[in-house]
Amino acid sequence: MPSNESKLTVVGAGLVGSLLALYLARRGHTVEVLERRPDMRRETLDAGRSINLAISTRGLHALRQVGLEEEALKHAIPMRGRVIHPVKGELAFQPYGKDDSQHINSLSRGWLNKFLMTRAEETGRVSIRFRQRVTHADPAAGALTVLDEATGETRELRDAVVFGTDGSGSAVRQALQSQPDFRADSETLGHGYKELTIPPGEGGRFQMEKHALHIWPRGTYMLIALPNEDGSFTCTLFLPWEGPVSFASLQTPEALEAFFQEQFPDAKALIPGLVEEFFSRPTGHMVTVKCAPWHAGGRTLLLGDAAHAIVPFYGQGMNCGFEDCVALDALLAKQPDLGQAFREFERLRKTNADAIADMAVENFIEMRDSTADPRFLLEKGVEKVLLNAFPGEFVSRYTLVSFSRVPYRLAYGVGAIAGGIVSELAKDLKRPEDVDLDRAAKLIRGRLTPFMEEH
Ligand code: FAD
Repeated sequence: MPSNESKLTVVGAGLVGSLLALYLARRGHTVEVLERRPDMRRETLDAGRSINLAISTRGLHALRQVGLEEEALKHAIPMRGRVIHPVKGELAFQPYGKDDSQHINSLSRGWLNKFLMTRAEETGRVSIRFRQRVTHADPAAGALTVLDEATGETRELRDAVVFGTDGSGSAVRQALQSQPDFRADSETLGHGYKELTIPPGEGGRFQMEKHALHIWPRGTYMLIALPNEDGSFTCTLFLPWEGPVSFASLQTPEALEAFFQEQFPDAKALIPGLVEEFFSRPTGHMVTVKCAPWHAGGRTLLLGDAAHAIVPFYGQGMNCGFEDCVALDALLAKQPDLGQAFREFERLRKTNADAIADMAVENFIEMRDSTADPRFLLEKGVEKVLLNAFPGEFVSRYTLVSFSRVPYRLAYGVGAIAGGIVSELAKDLKRPEDVDLDRAAKLIRGRLTPFMEEH
């Protein structure tokens, strides 16, 4: 481990890089952060990746460790469940947890990023340098080539300890590819996304249920909406790139309006800027990246999306990246050798990152398709009955991922068993409240409890 006077370099002042810088500063290090974009606190940047995002237990825990949770929550809107919007008919509410205390939180990405940068700088040990693009790296040597995008000049950094938090298209990860044992799988989703706005109603009123994540599930595609502090909602339309209903098929305002009128009539009535926003805003890509090793020479380590980009359907990408910061901090507290700490970090985090990556892809199918299925709704109802009837004994995958800090890998395993129990119990039921609790107890204690005890 370098001494407390050592200068550490973080590449990327996004959500994870900014929080990591703060964690490192609190350990007594001086940290330089290189960020390719201008300072978003001074300049308005083009629409970023998503306007708001959901923060849950893992992310909040990471903020709590550095005293930032309370302030962040002041800007967050609790979302207690999903509101499902069918094409016709009644809206349906599906709670996320056993009661309202289990909720996820909608938070502005821009606000959070600025807040983290400012808090990191306020330690007096972090300097963030903007318009600094890392173009090349020698990971094992801790060397970086940095282009100053304001002046066009290039400089070389040597003997640094480099933390690559430069996101899913990471330049640091790219440089790691020159290591002989490095491997990376990158899978681009066949869907893209577009952000649209439901503005606030009169007097800043929310035009739909405020404390929910709204979903319009339509089989191979979907629309979702999350609330913002100002009374607006940010909608995200997820559509295939190609095919009969796709970004390729929606080329004219007429086609777009007809599509929304047919599939999302209630949302269309609330999005006055539909045509303008759809045709002027960028269409986002989504990618899963699994790579290894995440480190080289005790000099370079990847964290956040740079190490494990995942698709957004579990609302966990940032949460997982924040959990990386907590894990690394704990290792640095007890492990003086950086090479060892980086190896141990990967050993602890890699299987968990892979598990949430897989769960995120699976959750896309659940959100866009199953949430509209009456059997799925019945099973969700049974799940809620079991969560309340067997507290501490029955757990669901969603609650473990979103409302606990149990390793993702374990949540994956438990989720499969718990899901099987729910399906079995719901098989011949008409109403969730009629579930046979004696049978449930036997199944839970026979299958789930031993698995949890074993792990
Ligand atoms: P980023 O946020 O991508 O930050 C990387 C930073 O590095 C950027 O500032 C970038 O400018 C900088 N950079 C890049 N290259 C260089 C370079 N060469 N030199 C210098 N700087 C560089 N996660 C959740 O937890 N909850 C959600 O609800 C959620 N919703 C999402 C919705 C969508 C549509 C998408 C796409 C993602 C969502 N995510 C969500 C995932 C979340 O956005 C990411 O996991 C998170 O942003 C990762 O943070 P990061 O700091 O690792 O990377």
